Amino acid sequence: MSGRFNGKCAIVTGAAGGIGEAIAARLAGEGAAVVLADLRRQAAEDAAARLGGDAMGVACDVADAQQVEACVASAIERFGSLDVVVNNAGLMTFNRIADFSQEDWLKVLKVDLVGAALFTREAFRHMGPGGGSIVNVASIHALQTSPEAAPYAAAKAGLLSLTRTTSIEGKERQIRANAVLPGAIDTPMLWDNPNIKSGAETIDHDDVGSPADIAAAVAFLASDEARFITGTTLVVDGGRLAKL
Ligand code: NAD
Repeated sequence: MSGRFNGKCAIVTGAAGGIGEAIAARLAGEGAAVVLADLRRQAAEDAAARLGGDAMGVACDVADAQQVEACVASAIERFGSLDVVVNNAGLMTFNRIADFSQEDWLKVLKVDLVGAALFTREAFRHMGPGGGSIVNVASIHALQTSPEAAPYAAAKAGLLSLTRTTSIEGKERQIRANAVLPGAIDTPMLWDNPNIKSGAETIDHDDVGSPADIAAAVAFLASDEARFITGTTLVVDGGRLAKL
């Protein structure tokens, strides 16, 4: 594996498992020092230990501004810089739009959208003169969706808008921002989805990707090979959205 991230420090949120852990492993495998930030402290520390080398698990609720600031401070204290931020932490709740509580709406928006905005703010405060790269893990739900997932779909669509603004305001600072839109990926989040369990949403076997498929796309966008790519979105869904 080439060392596209040699000497760089990356923070990956929601990295204690699933897609986030695969992204952290990919960046570490290409030379990055990686901070695995997750609500679940022990799982984040265990995932960092599995990576070995320059990897650190940090307890962080991305929806809490103070915890986000502390996470970025500890990354810089340990590894000396902040070069890549991958906003991957996310969750879904399910209900009919007529029945969603305000609490449920806020819970999803705070993690899937505001959490990314808080880490983006810290990236702008702490990335050096050479800039850096922010990759937001959205979802194909930002473009098309299914019933009973309104807060999630709205948060992910909002994340695409945040990506655009970040790219515009980041340009003079050499900070790039892009979004990856996974389709169905083989993680607990997919199989816990009640629409999938009930058969309301069906997925062909061929349309299920692996966390490593998302990690490969994120690593490309985060790397200097994507130096002229900013403000854009990359759907990684095995072609699911393309067919009628
Ligand atoms: P997952 O549930 O396996 O992992 C999500 C991780 O985020 C968990 O480790 C969890 O502890 C962490 N997390 C949740 N709330 C947090 C918070 N407030 N602060 C910090 N960490 C928090 O899910 P996954 O499938 O790996 O999903 C990762 C990302 O990919 C999410 O943003 C999700 O929306 C997106 N995505 C997943 C799929 C899929 O099919 N699995 C499809 C499209 C998009």
